[in-house]
Amino acid sequence: MFFTIFAVYFSAVLEILKTRRELTGFLQGRREQGHSVGLVPTMGALHEGHLSLIARSRKENRSTVCSIFVNPTQFNDPEDLRKYPRPITLDIRKLEQAGCDALFLPGVSEVYSGTEEWELDTGELEGILEGEFRPGHYRGVTQVVSKLFELTDPDRAYFGQKDYQQYLVISRMVQLLSIPVQLVCCPTVREADGLAMSSRNVHLSPEERSAASLLSRTLFAIRDMAPEVPPEQAKEKALDLLSASPLILPDYLVIADASTLRSVGSWDEAPAIIALLAAKVGQTRLIDNLFIKGTV
Ligand code: AMP
Repeated sequence: MFFTIFAVYFSAVLEILKTRRELTGFLQGRREQGHSVGLVPTMGALHEGHLSLIARSRKENRSTVCSIFVNPTQFNDPEDLRKYPRPITLDIRKLEQAGCDALFLPGVSEVYSGTEEWELDTGELEGILEGEFRPGHYRGVTQVVSKLFELTDPDRAYFGQKDYQQYLVISRMVQLLSIPVQLVCCPTVREADGLAMSSRNVHLSPEERSAASLLSRTLFAIRDMAPEVPPEQAKEKALDLLSASPLILPDYLVIADASTLRSVGSWDEAPAIIALLAAKVGQTRLIDNLFIKGTV
């Protein structure tokens, strides 16, 4: 009896909130108790990368809300949207184990009214790199994240460095719209062989999975070359490395100023320099990045 009460009292209870109303009610209760709120927006298929964001939020806030919403407006490829993994029962178990306080799990009609326009222009950042290969992607991202911010009004929101350009675009949105939230960029969590964890990794065949580690190895090779080898030469050598695998087809590889994502010609050009790449490994498109100098 004692143990049952003990377990119920101390095990974190995950509230599953499917509507805006339920979310608002939950947050009101927490705010009345004086809780700070951390938000972790995700599209689910949770892995250790997502869970590191939850852990960080739990450290810094009294209450943590994770959202799982596969946002249709940020997919420019309908097949990618259809194929996106949605293991919700497993995700709920992981969130319970991680001690997350609430899961916001809305359906599409709960988030969008149907005929919505979203026109926020975050400038050059949203049109380059991922923006070039996935036109409209960041419009969809800012659209959904602004909604999540409006609904949750979090003190802090947690994003992964894995999607560094996304973090920069959201930072710009927060600045443009004067949203009172503190953004936290968390380190990329990697598999033992260096591959950045991603919900899309499940699509890799065993051969592709093995080839995929070349992406992070290439980024680490650039870091090893700096500062002796200039950025342009380091990039060429990195592309040579990638070309060693016939399964890898790069979309881009840049060595850039970490605040603008514009390519740099020398290691002195910016206080923080980052290498970013995107490539198809078989049919699966993966991205990764690494700070070569400085940090976020
Ligand atoms: P997603 O579900 O892919 O939209 O990702 C949700 C959040 O988790 C985003 O802020 C991502 O940057 C972050 N994230 C995804 N993969 C990782 C990873 N390997 N390490 C750290 N954060 C990650």
